[in-house]
Amino acid sequence: MLAVPLNDPTDHPDHLVHPDQRGQPPVPPTAAPPAHDLAGLGRVALATTPAEFAAYWRAGGLRGGDLQIYNWYSSLFRQASVYPSGRPDGVRVPVADLGIIAPIHRVHRSESSEGVVTKFTQVVQTFADGSPPLEIESVLIPMIGRNSIRKYTLCVSSQVGCAMGCGFCQTAQMGLIRSLSVAEIVGQWFAARHLIEHPDPEAPIANIVFMGMGEPLDNFDNVVQAIAVLTDRRAANVAMRHITVSTVGRAAEIDRLAERVRQPGWHRLGLAVSLNAPTDAVRSSIMPINKAIPMAALRRPMEQWPFFGGAHLCLEYVLIPGVNDTAEHAEQLAAYVQGADYDGLAEPRYPGVALTGLVNVIPYNPRDNSPWPAPTEEQVVAFMAVLTARRVPNKRRRTKGRDTMAACGQLGNPTHTRRSLKASPVEVTVLGR
Ligand code: SAH
Repeated sequence: MLAVPLNDPTDHPDHLVHPDQRGQPPVPPTAAPPAHDLAGLGRVALATTPAEFAAYWRAGGLRGGDLQIYNWYSSLFRQASVYPSGRPDGVRVPVADLGIIAPIHRVHRSESSEGVVTKFTQVVQTFADGSPPLEIESVLIPMIGRNSIRKYTLCVSSQVGCAMGCGFCQTAQMGLIRSLSVAEIVGQWFAARHLIEHPDPEAPIANIVFMGMGEPLDNFDNVVQAIAVLTDRRAANVAMRHITVSTVGRAAEIDRLAERVRQPGWHRLGLAVSLNAPTDAVRSSIMPINKAIPMAALRRPMEQWPFFGGAHLCLEYVLIPGVNDTAEHAEQLAAYVQGADYDGLAEPRYPGVALTGLVNVIPYNPRDNSPWPAPTEEQVVAFMAVLTARRVPNKRRRTKGRDTMAACGQLGNPTHTRRSLKASPVEVTVLGR
């Protein structure tokens, strides 16, 4: 189905420039973008902001005023098809046929109290030797907002697999296969917006969370550039305050992201840190990263996170029965968040500033072959009650999509591991378009 292999070397914007012209001053414009350049232009557009796109357009010697260039750029994000000429007087070309959006491979739908949850996978890379294709997963989650208006949150992947090795997470079972390009990250939004069929095509994708496969801060530059494209009003036009980057807790990269957040336009980017445990002993047992960056070290970048009006920090806490779910764990967690002493603790304490964060309790969704069950309703309520009694702001994440393995931490194809990647064939069922 693909005309052009994804990840082909022409993913680099330089391919827009004729080889003879690279490094030369731009030639005077002569022709409108020829149709056969659509795929090239589209690939560049998905990876660039409008100003960068305009620069490539001109460097390629393509004709057009600012308005035409920006219209062409915008149209790629607005519709499922584009006009080759940039003017709505020709034949529309479906973007899905240009080979720039990884094709949808599987679509699973499940009902939730707020609407249909859609999990879809896209093939980002195929192999000539018959090895299984690389797939990424995204989930479109409905929410009923104010005035009963339905909106969607899109959960995107930043990598194929993940290197972090968290014991409770499905994706971790795969290991890291590779990081995604900017276009592959933005392409998930495009697929969710224009390619999958969902019952509510008009409902906006109001939020994007980097909580799919992968550790976004291990793919820092591409994630940041993808956010620049996703938030541009001429591109996907998602509000910065409605984008959240979720991290395992890489302190140095949180600092780097904070630098970005200090820049105009970025102030309200959301940060979520997967704490998942109240003490180093528990955290190290389920999250290997904690041995390198223990909880005291992780606390500093959170204390220093730049809060502009409306910015938010979220502490994610996957509640796993028998691991981190006792009343004492909740007390210890409250002490960590508040920078308070806790009498029952032999662990190091965290005197100082309280974290300005909301604890997001996520009931554990059992991964394949999980040694732990999901928590019961009573266990979740009891844990949250302790936090509330300690005046720690907390919220529960409603579990949607668990039955289709579309819920948090359930993304990842069990047949894809570093070991099996070259060996086991993956059945290909195309349910989407
Ligand atoms: N690597 C990033 C983003 C991906 S995981 C991170 O660690 O934050 C997104 C969220 O899902 C994290 O908070 C993670 O702790 C949580 N999660 C992972 N596996 C889970 C599972 N099996 N059940 C519930 N939540 C899970």
